[in-house]
Amino acid sequence: MFTSTLVHRDTTGSNDLPDDLFEAIAELKRELNAVILAHYYQDPDIQDIADYIGDSLGLSRQAANTEAEVIVFAGVHFMAETAKILNPNKLVLLPDLDAGCSLADSCPPDAFAQFKAAHPDHLVVSYINCSAAIKAMSDIICTSSNAVKIIEQLPPDRPIIFAPDRNLGRYVMERTGRDLLLWEGSCIVHETFSEKKIVQLQIEHPDAEIIAHPECETPVLRHANYIGSTTALLQYAKESPASAFIVATEPGIIHQMEKEAKDKQFIPAPSTSNCACNECPHMRLNTLEKLYLCMKNRTPEINLPEDIREAAWRPIARMLEMS
Ligand code: SF4
Repeated sequence: MFTSTLVHRDTTGSNDLPDDLFEAIAELKRELNAVILAHYYQDPDIQDIADYIGDSLGLSRQAANTEAEVIVFAGVHFMAETAKILNPNKLVLLPDLDAGCSLADSCPPDAFAQFKAAHPDHLVVSYINCSAAIKAMSDIICTSSNAVKIIEQLPPDRPIIFAPDRNLGRYVMERTGRDLLLWEGSCIVHETFSEKKIVQLQIEHPDAEIIAHPECETPVLRHANYIGSTTALLQYAKESPASAFIVATEPGIIHQMEKEAKDKQFIPAPSTSNCACNECPHMRLNTLEKLYLCMKNRTPEINLPEDIREAAWRPIARMLEMS
């Protein structure tokens, strides 16, 4: 198994912070010819300084098309890896290299290689939330925005392995009627929502619609008025005539929902225990301070072995063509 290599470029750089971080980051952006891509699950101040905010599909498209020389990826490790896979000659920075993903970690490459070898006639469709090593073993990558569309385009007589998220896999099976061989991975954040508390919350807010990400478990999805990727949830919230929403995904998205649908109310779906477990601990490792420092010191940088990068690029390119 390989991991991305951490390259320290300027370890002599001081970690002193300027008074105005927003201005300092804007200045570094000009200096480096950098673009800042941020996921919807990032802290609001990071979202506010980003050039583009999106979900995995949107961010991949931006990464594929950017003319900037440096990509600063405010998200988690597999997302920055995807940007590097698409841009081998560009500097890709991640504010905190420990910003991983429980879902990606639930699919270790060695175990997955054995699983794949046991089913040699299967096509492998992997959700983008996986490591570059898993992507390199896949035929096609998908995101929550395009998973249904991609599975529907595959030959009906070909068996399919779907990895690593079992909840998204089940949802796709239900939507497409295809039987998928699921890898049993999951996201700690999306599996934390309590069906019971969501139902209780809806009794308290009878006009609220429940909107959910397909990484949630089936009992939660069963109550949803609408299921979709983060971008689709945002769009739905803007267009729906409903005035309130119970949001069953990472609550970082609520920042954009509140900005784009100012007159509506957004209530984060509660988790099973009384904790902030619905906030992704990996995404939240990135801070505005770390964003500034990674640009100033040009580290941590994402690097991949070329054979893995090339093998991982093919299924991503296929996804971009098919979606
Ligand atoms: S919310 Fe879940 S799938 Fe997304 S980065 Fe966090 S752990 Fe991974």
